[in-house]
Amino acid sequence: MTARPIAHGRASGHVWLVGAGPGDPGLITRAGLEALRRADVVLYDRLGTADLLDECREDALLIDVGKAPGRQAMAQEEINAELIEHGRAGRRVVRLKGGDPFVFGRGGEEAEALAAARIACTVVPGVTSAIGGLAAAGIPVTHRGVAASFAVVTGHEAPDRSTEGVDWTRLATAVDTIVVLMGVGRLESIAAALIAGGRDSRTPAALVQQASTPAQRVLEATLGEIAVAARDAGIEAPALLVVGEVAALRDRLALAPSGPLAGKRVLVTRTRRQASALADALRREGAVPLLLPAIELERHADAEQAREAGGRLRAHEYGWAVFTSENAVDTAFELLEAERVDARAFAGVRLCAVGTATAEALRRHGLLADLLPAEADGDGVLRALLEAGIAGQRVLLPRAEGARAALPDGLRAAGATVDELALYLAAPPAAPSPRTLERVRRGEVDVVTFTSSSTVSNLATLLEGDLEPVRSAIVACIGPQTAATARDVGLDPTVVASDRSVEGLVQALLEHFGGDADPEFAE
Ligand code: SAH
Repeated sequence: MTARPIAHGRASGHVWLVGAGPGDPGLITRAGLEALRRADVVLYDRLGTADLLDECREDALLIDVGKAPGRQAMAQEEINAELIEHGRAGRRVVRLKGGDPFVFGRGGEEAEALAAARIACTVVPGVTSAIGGLAAAGIPVTHRGVAASFAVVTGHEAPDRSTEGVDWTRLATAVDTIVVLMGVGRLESIAAALIAGGRDSRTPAALVQQASTPAQRVLEATLGEIAVAARDAGIEAPALLVVGEVAALRDRLALAPSGPLAGKRVLVTRTRRQASALADALRREGAVPLLLPAIELERHADAEQAREAGGRLRAHEYGWAVFTSENAVDTAFELLEAERVDARAFAGVRLCAVGTATAEALRRHGLLADLLPAEADGDGVLRALLEAGIAGQRVLLPRAEGARAALPDGLRAAGATVDELALYLAAPPAAPSPRTLERVRRGEVDVVTFTSSSTVSNLATLLEGDLEPVRSAIVACIGPQTAATARDVGLDPTVVASDRSVEGLVQALLEHFGGDADPEFAE
């Protein structure tokens, strides 16, 4: 292959072979995550990596080299060639592999090919499914007094073939715990070979399908019966077979089930900038956030309006300012700053914040809200303001262009003078991630969260009006207003936060799922 021109000004590229862990995105290493976040190019296998790809840079080139429905996996030579080509072009390349790169992952071959091409290569080890996947199912690979040794073998080579790579007869009694990867299709002959080699057919065994993912299933049976039991239960790849006394320890260890949100895939539709707080809060509860920002805030300020509002603020003409979202606070302050107006101009202005997150945003600008309406819907806010004596006053209302007219109309009807300050247009993003959209369309999400009315209508737009795939998901809204919009588009919000904040939304989800938390591992 001929050398290519260098793309990024680096002398030469670098390839990281990164282990993604068995499937739970929380099980990648810190080094692996850092490499992934910085990568220019990511070549990934589907197995165990889907939720990690959200971590990649938005402009990173993502190449799926694994098997997909109706498509062959890329041949190893082609993968090597791609790694070399991008490496030669001076790029940071991550080769993301399920589990550990060197456990039946062909990572060694890739490292060899890169060495031959003189491209720097670093391996970032991963949690192999052979150990971590079993642990996720509550099975310890060793246990004092029960298992002092283990072997990890491939079941890919049929035991009845003369070219077999595993000596099943010697293996059968050589170690306490036997873990077989890639063996689901050959369970019968594997079990027969181990029994023929002298392993007792009554030895406990288990199969763990999709270990450490929301779809994890565990099947326990004796070695003699596991193949038939697997067929009856419809166990499919990817799955781990474990043979040995440890397979019977699950009940005894009774590892605490993770929280009620564990493994739930939750769609986050807020802006990319705001998504991380919600995503982090969800992750802390064991959920797997899927980010699909449904809004991009497009600045849409009217310079004339801003100048006027700035002037009136400076002249202390406002009795009240009403902020209905965190975005409204931050954008309004940016806009006013351009008019050389800062928090001092709010001296004497009474402040209403809708929702604790909005109040918190005000606090970051050095201002404490005077009024936090108990009910965050339009009527509740209006009622609270009227009770607080807003009638007859001049009110500043900075918010999104095209927001509902009910609030300013109600205030005016009560005799207030309302100056609206248009801040932005909440538009659907120009280039939503096709990968994430595809996952939503396939019905992969368990929960859809909406944090404003525009996230609802824009998700509908992104899905081209077809909300069928999210209909079976739990719909969770940050407040009654958002829930009303969700009902307008035909969804049925079953979770509505009582506190209009990220914490409130997560709390409401915990309460919703808390009742029916399955104390057993998903089966
Ligand atoms: N490098 C990987 C293994 C690749 S071989 C690792 O270290 O885990 C692919 C096989 O690994 C699958 O056929 C299956 O047997 C096993 N495997 C990988 N991830 C798994 C998972 N989440 N659940 C069950 N088995 C898994």
